[in-house]
Amino acid sequence: MAALDRLTECLSKLPGIGRRSAERMAVRLVAEPDGVLRELRAALDEAAATVRCCARCGGITTADRDPCRLCSSGDRADGTLCIVEQPNDILLIERSGGYRGRYHALHGKISPGRGEGPDALRIETLLRRVRAEGFTEAILALSTDMEGEATAGYLAELLRKEGLRVSRLAHGLPAGSGIVYSDPVTLARAIQGRVEA
Ligand SMILES: [Zn+2]
Repeated sequence: MAALDRLTECLSKLPGIGRRSAERMAVRLVAEPDGVLRELRAALDEAAATVRCCARCGGITTADRDPCRLCSSGDRADGTLCIVEQPNDILLIERSGGYRGRYHALHGKISPGRGEGPDALRIETLLRRVRAEGFTEAILALSTDMEGEATAGYLAELLRKEGLRVSRLAHGLPAGSGIVYSDPVTLARAIQGRVEA
């Protein structure tokens, strides 16, 4: 069935969803057209119409608020830029309460295995911001797996050339995982105890 295959294919593109889970989801959705399928369709339409990524930081915002609340707020510390992989990492760091500067989401990490080099990330935008917004420190809040490490190394060199002090989150984050797995207290401590990259 082409339609079911297409649905499975779409779902399997989502993070953390393998082919088999995608297939189970697809079958569950079509089995009850008036249940989750209808709700999901409405939610997708609403999200597509109202939710955006901020053109400046790459974080989540609404269509009528770009740049986002965090980029346009007057009471954030302007000198410091925290660089994360995904928009949801910003929400997580905000929840930890341990950081008051600005953010930049790369929307990924350097991943030679998936054919993703620096060009696939929001690095051009990052450099433009660094030059225009006068940051003096960058905090790399990236995952601690091999790809995260490679991305951090690449960015540290690039940003140091721009004259920034570059630091990384202190240890205490589980090795090999993204910052998404740390609890707010651990994360706040890791930001406060950041170390020179
Ligand atoms: Zn923003």
